[in-house]
Amino acid sequence: MISNQNYRNEILPFSIEGTRIRGRIVRLSNVYHDLLETKQYPEIVANFIGELATLTILLADTIKYDGIFILQTQSDGPINISVADITHTGLIRGYALYDKVKLDKISAHPSVPELLGSGRLAFTIDQGGSKERYQGIVALEGNTLTECAQNYFRQSEQIETAIMITADPISKKAAAILIQKMPELNISPSPDDYLDKEQNYESWRNAVILMSSITKSELLDHKISSEELLYRVYHNEGVRIFNRKPIKYQCRCSSEKLGAVLASLSEKELEEMLDELGRVIAKCEFCNHDHIFDRKILKKIRTLKETL
Ligand SMILES: [Zn+2]
Repeated sequence: MISNQNYRNEILPFSIEGTRIRGRIVRLSNVYHDLLETKQYPEIVANFIGELATLTILLADTIKYDGIFILQTQSDGPINISVADITHTGLIRGYALYDKVKLDKISAHPSVPELLGSGRLAFTIDQGGSKERYQGIVALEGNTLTECAQNYFRQSEQIETAIMITADPISKKAAAILIQKMPELNISPSPDDYLDKEQNYESWRNAVILMSSITKSELLDHKISSEELLYRVYHNEGVRIFNRKPIKYQCRCSSEKLGAVLASLSEKELEEMLDELGRVIAKCEFCNHDHIFDRKILKKIRTLKETL
C-alpha cells in the first residue's frame, strides 16, 4: 500500500512574497500507481505517463474552467498518441499508445524527439454543452516535455514559465513544480516603472535559480512535505501557501456513453465490429475496461436509433 500522510496526491498553489510570481507544486503517489495499474507499460512509457499527468495537473490549475482539461500529443515516434485529462474537481486519467518495435530501438532516457518524434501538443478545455471548446496547439519543440510546455507559454500566453517534472515508475511517485511571472497590471506608466521592471526581472531570475536548486529526488521524497520543500527553497523571499487541492484517479467511461457512440454507427459498421460470439467489445483506452454489447443490447440500441 503506497500511502503516507506527508505524501498526498495533491496540488499546492503558492506565491512568492512581494513579487508577481505564482507557483504550483504537484505530488502524486497512489494516483500514479492507479494510472499504471491496468496497463503493462514498458518503463519508458510509464515514466512518460507520470510526467504527462503531473504536467496536465499543473497546466489545468493555471486555468479557470468548469469541465475537462485535456493535454494530448500526437506524433510519429515510438509513442504516437498520449492523452491525460482532468476535471475541474481534480479527477485525472490518461494513457499512451506506443509502437513496441520502435520503442525497443531507443535509449533508456530518450528525449522528446526520440520518444515522440515530430508532431503536436494540444491543450483543450471542454466545458461541455454549448460552451465553446478552447484549443491551443503547438509543435512538439524541445528536448523534454517541460521544454515543450514552456515553449507553449512563451509563444501563446507570453508568460514566463519555469517547470520541473520528474517521475519514477518503480516507486510510483511523480512530482512537478511550476513558477510563472504573472503579467504586470500597470495601466498608467510612471518613471518608476523601469526600476520596477529591473527588480521584477531580478526576482524572477532568483526564483528560477532557487527552483532549479531542488533536486529530482527531493521532489519525489515523500518524507519532505510540499510546504516544507517550498519553505526550504523560498524562506528568504517568503512564500505564501494557498489551499491544497486533492487529486484523484478516476476514469469517466461508461457503457451508456459508448452505447451512444455505437448508436451513431450504421448497421453495416456495427456488423463489422461483431466478434465470433456476436458481441461488440469496446475497450476503454484509459482504464482498459471492456464494455461488452451483446446482440440483445445492440438490437436495443438500433431500435432506439430508429425511433429517434
Ligand atoms: Zn475507462
